[in-house]
Amino acid sequence: MGEPRVLTGGATAGFAVDWTGRFQGHTPAVVRPRDTAEVAAVLALCTDAGVPVVPQGGNTGLVGGGVPLLGEVVLSLTRLSQMGPVDHAAAQVTAGAGVTLQQVADADPGLDLGILIASRGSATVGGAVAANAGGLRVLRFGPMRAQLRGIEAVLADGTVVSHLAGLVKDNTGYEYPSLLAGSEGTLAVVTAARLRLVPRLRDTVTALVGLGGLDELHALARQAVRQVPGLVSAEFFTRTGLDILVAHAGLVPPWPGPAPAYLLLEASGPGALDALADVIGDREAAVGESAADRGRLWSYRERHPEAAGFLSVPVKVDVSVPAAQWVRLASQAAAVVTDVDPGADVITFGHVADGNVHVNIVPAASADGRHEDAVFSFVASLGGSISAEHGIGALKAPWLPLARTDAERALFARIRSASYSPVRAPVGNQHRDDAAQ
Ligand SMILES: Cc1cc2nc3c(=O)[nH]c(=O)nc-3n(C[C@H](O)[C@H](O)[C@H](O)COP(=O)(O)OP(=O)(O)OC[C@H]3O[C@@H](n4cnc5c(N)ncnc54)[C@H](O)[C@@H]3O)c2cc1C
Repeated sequence: MGEPRVLTGGATAGFAVDWTGRFQGHTPAVVRPRDTAEVAAVLALCTDAGVPVVPQGGNTGLVGGGVPLLGEVVLSLTRLSQMGPVDHAAAQVTAGAGVTLQQVADADPGLDLGILIASRGSATVGGAVAANAGGLRVLRFGPMRAQLRGIEAVLADGTVVSHLAGLVKDNTGYEYPSLLAGSEGTLAVVTAARLRLVPRLRDTVTALVGLGGLDELHALARQAVRQVPGLVSAEFFTRTGLDILVAHAGLVPPWPGPAPAYLLLEASGPGALDALADVIGDREAAVGESAADRGRLWSYRERHPEAAGFLSVPVKVDVSVPAAQWVRLASQAAAVVTDVDPGADVITFGHVADGNVHVNIVPAASADGRHEDAVFSFVASLGGSISAEHGIGALKAPWLPLARTDAERALFARIRSASYSPVRAPVGNQHRDDAAQ
């Protein structure tokens, strides 16, 4: 690989800790290949030597999946940063695993990436595929899996599999790009993806609405989904998170009086403003049409992942429930946490139309799993998922049986063993094995 592309000692520190600071590991080396052939060579070498490897992209994942918790070699894919020309006929582009989501979004003035997440300046194509990232526009464009039109990946033994033609219709065998989406590096290392691009939004209007409670907020969001044809986003946060951002991040409240809950709606296309206005009625709201005004309104929502971190190292839990249970989840999650840790601060925000709530917890008691256990058990009782969009990683591995049956987990294990003879196991890697199962 050559010296500059292999980091050791103190130079590895930033690769061994996650964005939240909760997951800290250690690694003998960070290897930074430049192309698919180098990825294949490194994986084949590590497999032969029985050396466990953890792939890492932008290291913005929130479940500890990209961190070398058990002393793995870190395979950093950020140098796979080549992006092909935009294929205008197909509205697609092929991007290396290390290209950031922002770079894909900026590739063409008339086209955009359907995925929008606050970490887009650092999060990579490979990481977003591996995590099946969701974000702020899933309502309109679906998650990362829905953007995939092809993939190139390397199996643990160095075998390269590549299907990048970008055919929209192609019923020849198993759709393994979809399988790799959300596989969190347990099946293969993604080296490139063929991505669909969507028309860049025009005539976009953003509205922030203050509401008396989460039941009213949910009803309004559902009404917007039904009645606003160009609806792109329906996001929420509460006064708790806003107060922290005002105190610590320098945000100015959207209007003088506080509201218990806030719904951010964004719609695009002709008539978007009128359609949103009809739904919002005479409720207290701020509306933005210029990029600057919209950006200001979005900052209230987009900065929420940071809020808990201003207080301490957070426990971040990302869950979803059926639409009919959303109000119960969003309104009772804080009480569920304070039942097991009365001094904890709990900040909730997320994606209303997707049934997805982020529960960010600043523990007062020991972060020994009690918080996750309380929220995940509650979510399971509501028929929901313990991971809406962040994945399982290290954080959620012990609770996977709450969300998936024995038969399903056995199938996962069979798929995994079919994809490769274990790289990580049996080198004392039970934790990651649990994650894969
Ligand atoms: C402020 C902030 C906001 C966020 N908002 C959202 C959001 O709205 N929606 C959302 O879904 N997520 C969100 N995230 C989480 C995160 O940004 C996404 O999961 C993102 O897709 C991770 O990309 P990454 O390149 O940083 O991956 P990493 O964090 O480096 O890795 C994530 C996982 O993918 C694996 N992996 C990485 N690269 C590859 C590869 N090339 N091949 C195989 N496996 C690989 C890693 O091993 C790990 O398991 C947010 C994070 C932050 C910090």
